[in-house]
Amino acid sequence: MTTTRFAPSPTGYLHIGNLRTALFNFLIARAAGGTFILRLDDTDPERSKSEYADAIQEDLEWLGLTWDRIEKQSDRLDRYASAADQLRNAGRFYEAFETPVELDLKRKKQLNMGKPPVYDRAALDLTDDARAALKAERGQGVWRFKLDHERIEWVDGILSEISIDAASVSDPVLIRQDGQVLYTLASVVDDTEMGVTHVVRGSDHVTNTATQIQIIQALGGAVPEFAHHSLLTGPQGEKLSKRFESLSLRGLREQGVEPMAILSHMARLGSSDPVELRNKMGELIDGFDISRFGAAPTKFDEADLAPLSARYLAGLPLAAVADDIAALGVPGGQAEAFWQVVRENIAIRGDMAQWWALFRDGAAPLVDDEDRDFVATALNLLGEPPYGPDTWGTWTSDVKEATARKGRGLFMPLRKAVTGRERGPEMAEVMPLLQVKPGNR
Ligand code: GLU
Repeated sequence: MTTTRFAPSPTGYLHIGNLRTALFNFLIARAAGGTFILRLDDTDPERSKSEYADAIQEDLEWLGLTWDRIEKQSDRLDRYASAADQLRNAGRFYEAFETPVELDLKRKKQLNMGKPPVYDRAALDLTDDARAALKAERGQGVWRFKLDHERIEWVDGILSEISIDAASVSDPVLIRQDGQVLYTLASVVDDTEMGVTHVVRGSDHVTNTATQIQIIQALGGAVPEFAHHSLLTGPQGEKLSKRFESLSLRGLREQGVEPMAILSHMARLGSSDPVELRNKMGELIDGFDISRFGAAPTKFDEADLAPLSARYLAGLPLAAVADDIAALGVPGGQAEAFWQVVRENIAIRGDMAQWWALFRDGAAPLVDDEDRDFVATALNLLGEPPYGPDTWGTWTSDVKEATARKGRGLFMPLRKAVTGRERGPEMAEVMPLLQVKPGNR
């Protein structure tokens, strides 16, 4: 069965780049009727915070990216310890004692000689005595996985054929000096034991994938399908990672961006298909095809979300906004009429409040100097609310007769006097919503 996972580290809030990974994995699982796992990669006790773990779940729920199963790596430390033993027994794990400073020096030397900065495996050549002496002097070492020096190859779901020379990669450290198991091992153990069949993640993980494939094989697991999506950049191709804080999912939520707008955009951005607004998760699932995505960095412009979001809102039935409308205090009998009037004139749900305030309390009239007398005359010809669907037509024809104005010169000053704005909904539909007579504010 198709099983995917989204595996954030709870060390911060989810941002738009994380969402791409979450969404792709979610859509693949849902399209196949499979399982989507939320896995919290919280093996780093200093950086992982439960408030972030909660926030991650809240953000995913807000977006409708629901999971079938949740796992925490911190609950599975014994599994990682036994995998480490297995690697030790298989002769694929070795302890190394270099300090960070020594490693840095080695790297610099290699770079100076024009060589790739790959760990030289000096620890493998230590005699038993030398190892014992180092251990006595320095305590525990780090544990490295001994890569087989051959080419590691896979057909990537996005990048196609990948071939990496294992000799060009350092033997990865899987256990730190303080005993903490690192993500590279924990992730492999989880993916294997949880039956993960497809792993989609950012292209910054390509080298990880190469080493993880060998670790999976050393542990006798099944290698999943891998796909690496490109990283997001800003509209000009600039690095986005610095702005991730402001592009957090909660930030977008606070700005009022609708989940389906974000999801529709991200399910297509960077693929050969155009971005299309989808109103339902099901449509998004049906239209998704990971093979349509390209390897090139993907430009993301936050500004593209607002029009999609507004379009999504405009298409909603009353039932989907009824609670928001009721919360504003719109009388039940007027909710439908109110929604018809404002739906095309809001960018975010929050904008409805301004319209309701305007209908309830009246607008601060916008009257040009040359229209003052005209507007005063017109208002004298208008009775008190409630107004009906014919009020606008009757009123404007009365005003036309009394003032001889017509067309734009007639309608625009009245629109501005009533709504305080130059643009907006059909005035015939606005009038019945007014709770006070214009100009009586
Ligand atoms: N916790 C890892 C990350 O956030 C997960 C990577 C993966 O999908 O394996 O980068």
